[in-house]
Amino acid sequence: MTIKLRLRTYGDPCLRKPARPVLAVGPAERMLIREMIPAMYAFDGTGLAANQVGIEAKIFVADIGEGPFAVINPEIIQASVKQTVLEEGCLSFPGIHIKVKRPEAIRVKYLSERNETIEAELTGIPAKVFQHEIDHLNGRAIIDHASRAEKLKFKDQLAALESSHRKRAPRG
Ligand SMILES: [Zn+2]
Repeated sequence: MTIKLRLRTYGDPCLRKPARPVLAVGPAERMLIREMIPAMYAFDGTGLAANQVGIEAKIFVADIGEGPFAVINPEIIQASVKQTVLEEGCLSFPGIHIKVKRPEAIRVKYLSERNETIEAELTGIPAKVFQHEIDHLNGRAIIDHASRAEKLKFKDQLAALESSHRKRAPRG
């Protein structure tokens, strides 16, 4: 299958726009999900949010080791006081890893691909993946969790990613 979806990286305004809630999962959303799943595998990601491929819809796909699934309109309805740190990478920040502190456990509510409302209690890696992808859908990314030292450490890579967007303008 050919991948039509283009991965957006740091500096692309798509990553900063909060995605719009999906009213109901219909054929268009299912088609998007069917394209996002192979794209996620092709990009070699654990998860992929729709705005990472330039689509402003509150949808992400993920595979946390038990096969791919889609999450629509996710909301965190409860979060543990206890927070843990995990070094997170992101398809939109190639080569960059940031130590991100997040609640260890969360309770989430979302729609499945079949329009079922699901509530789930998540801990460990699944909790981190959901929070990472929900950040994307809210226009946030790992860089917003970075310490000053980390921003300095990855300064050149971040600048290179940002400038790659400026160069895309047509040149005469
Ligand atoms: Zn990401």
